[in-house]
Amino acid sequence: MSGLSIRDLRVTFDGFAAVDGVSLDVAPGDIRFLIGPNGAGKTTLVDAVTGLVKASGSVRFGEQALLGKPVHQIARLGIGRTFQTATVFEELTVLQNLDIAAGAGRGPWTMLRRRRSVPAAVAEALETIGLADQRDKLAGTLAHGQKQWLEIGMLLVQDVKLLLLDEPVAGMSHEERDATGALLGVVSADRTVVVIEHDMDFMRSFARTVTVLHAGKVLSEGSVAEVQADPAVQQVYLGA
Ligand code: ADP
Repeated sequence: MSGLSIRDLRVTFDGFAAVDGVSLDVAPGDIRFLIGPNGAGKTTLVDAVTGLVKASGSVRFGEQALLGKPVHQIARLGIGRTFQTATVFEELTVLQNLDIAAGAGRGPWTMLRRRRSVPAAVAEALETIGLADQRDKLAGTLAHGQKQWLEIGMLLVQDVKLLLLDEPVAGMSHEERDATGALLGVVSADRTVVVIEHDMDFMRSFARTVTVLHAGKVLSEGSVAEVQADPAVQQVYLGA
């Protein structure tokens, strides 16, 4: 397993620093929550890690330096992300979505990295995301939470080792949120996970480190209780 190490990350848009010198480390197999008000730079940080925007500084996943590599090369290293709105093929079944995702990652590098056959990876992902009995259902007819899990499954079949999730429990019912928590627990057993999140109760249930971003910088870092008690965080969220 590899960890994520970010040093002095900077992303500027026309001179405006959306990410302004962020450093953070996520240990191999850990889950790190990223919070911060709208415009704090959370999405841009994930975009920089996945190669979608140009950035300076350094981003390493294990031994691999990521900055400057094109998106497809970063994906090949086993780095995958989800978006706030799940991107699944609505007209295809759950199984077909997973098959396509597994095939999309195919290539000499991916095949070397893979330890299992595609059907085995798909079957395992179906169980992990709890959709084995929904495999023949059209993705477009799934409940909101199930679509999010399918999107995570589509990354699992590509053998991702670093998973970046954008508000995975937004809009979910309590039951769906609990199931997502259990899924993250399983997924993080042998992967490193970064989660952009707002739901404090959800984060608290993991008792992991939270990094608070504000105006492109790290404002605070610690447990949920620690960052909630931090006057700098209260100032930003409540204007206290
Ligand atoms: P968050 O995800 O924390 O809400 P973002 O990373 O989306 O924040 O945005 C950080 C800042 O960068 C915001 O001020 C946003 O307007 C700006 N920004 C993001 N993407 C672009 C872009 N492509 N061009 C110009 N400004 C951008």
